Amino acid sequence: MPRPFWRSLIRSLIPHQYVMSVYDLDLHDLRARGVRGLILDLDNTLAAWRFGQPEPRLAEWVEGAKARGFSLYIVSNDLGPRVDLFSRFLGIPGVARAGKPRRRAFQRAIRALGLEPGEVAVVGDQVFTDILGARPLGCHTVLVVPVSRREFVGTRLVRRLEGLLLRHLAARGLLDGPVGPASGRGRSDRPSEGLTDGEAGGRPADSARGGGPPDGGDFLC
Ligand SMILES: [Mg+2]
Repeated sequence: MPRPFWRSLIRSLIPHQYVMSVYDLDLHDLRARGVRGLILDLDNTLAAWRFGQPEPRLAEWVEGAKARGFSLYIVSNDLGPRVDLFSRFLGIPGVARAGKPRRRAFQRAIRALGLEPGEVAVVGDQVFTDILGARPLGCHTVLVVPVSRREFVGTRLVRRLEGLLLRHLAARGLLDGPVGPASGRGRSDRPSEGLTDGEAGGRPADSARGGGPPDGGDFLC
């Protein structure tokens, strides 16, 4: 049986949901879970890393979320000018150089939203920054498939470890997804792509659509 530290660490790495893109977030379901705020990563979540520009479709999605009563906030490890560009275009606040997975920027955003951690969903494309930083705070966490393959060289190295982790979680039935249309968007080396439903995870109704969050309890069994 894993020791408590490892059990806690493993639990912190398991997203509650895994979707193809922000457009595949089920906002109705999130509201039903009590989520009222969305903290969004920028690079490879809202747009391609470094060079992706804000698009009208993204602005429409943000307006739709606002209309449903969600408050939104960008928390990014990117530099200030790029975060400012997206914040102005989308009309939502943001913080740059967030230092994820450190929790300070998440906590700042949660306070700014005027919500409790359990009322916030953190959406991002990296397990070791977005999910690891947010889940221990008590936030709902949603992993998305990266918008593009292009990314910081250090991130590409971490992706190898992340890929191993996600494949292991899927094999243990602790992660289902990514949920969403096979749009061709994002990376092709995500663990569930090319797998049948049964191979992709044994809890099809849990992590994606409303069951209890995976706790990683049988991760090492
Ligand atoms: Mg990112």
